[in-house]
Amino acid sequence: MRIAIYPGSFDPVTKGHLDIIERAAGLFDKLIVVVLTNPAKTPVFSVEERVSYIRRIVEKLDNVETDCFDGLLADYVKLKGAGAIVKGLRAMSDFEYEFQMALTNKQLNPEMETLFLITSAEYMYLSSSIVRQLASFGADISRFIPDEIRDIIVERLRKAGK
Ligand code: ADP
Repeated sequence: MRIAIYPGSFDPVTKGHLDIIERAAGLFDKLIVVVLTNPAKTPVFSVEERVSYIRRIVEKLDNVETDCFDGLLADYVKLKGAGAIVKGLRAMSDFEYEFQMALTNKQLNPEMETLFLITSAEYMYLSSSIVRQLASFGADISRFIPDEIRDIIVERLRKAGK
């Protein structure tokens, strides 16, 4: 069974993430989307909220699971018996950081590969932080957030004043 892990902050999950999830799910027997706790970031949504939003939008995908993990990604990959990490790649600005992470993870676990899926052009400039910023100015974010969770995200961001 070929298992892949798609890690991220997903604060909140966007249509750009969903696009990567759907495409990666077609390449592996099982895809696990994992919300990682990043000590360098202060998220707006709790881990539980982020996991529940992802669960809602992947319900229709039989081979996708959602989880969270507070620790080293390389350890999580081993724990799950996965062979690959999947990442989305947007503009060049993602590249430097992702390159560094991929090489570091390879050193930690030489059996694991990192696979990059190039963003779909329509989502090239979409990020969770852009969604949060737009929402803070009252802009319509419905184009960027999957329909199933749009209302709750808009409401939560309005309450958070983000
Ligand atoms: P963000 O940078 O939006 O806060 P995350 O840390 O949650 O995102 O990102 C998780 C993964 O999803 C990363 O590999 C990131 O490059 C990828 N990703 C995020 N947004 C997009 C998008 N619009 N298109 C393709 N990949 C994306």
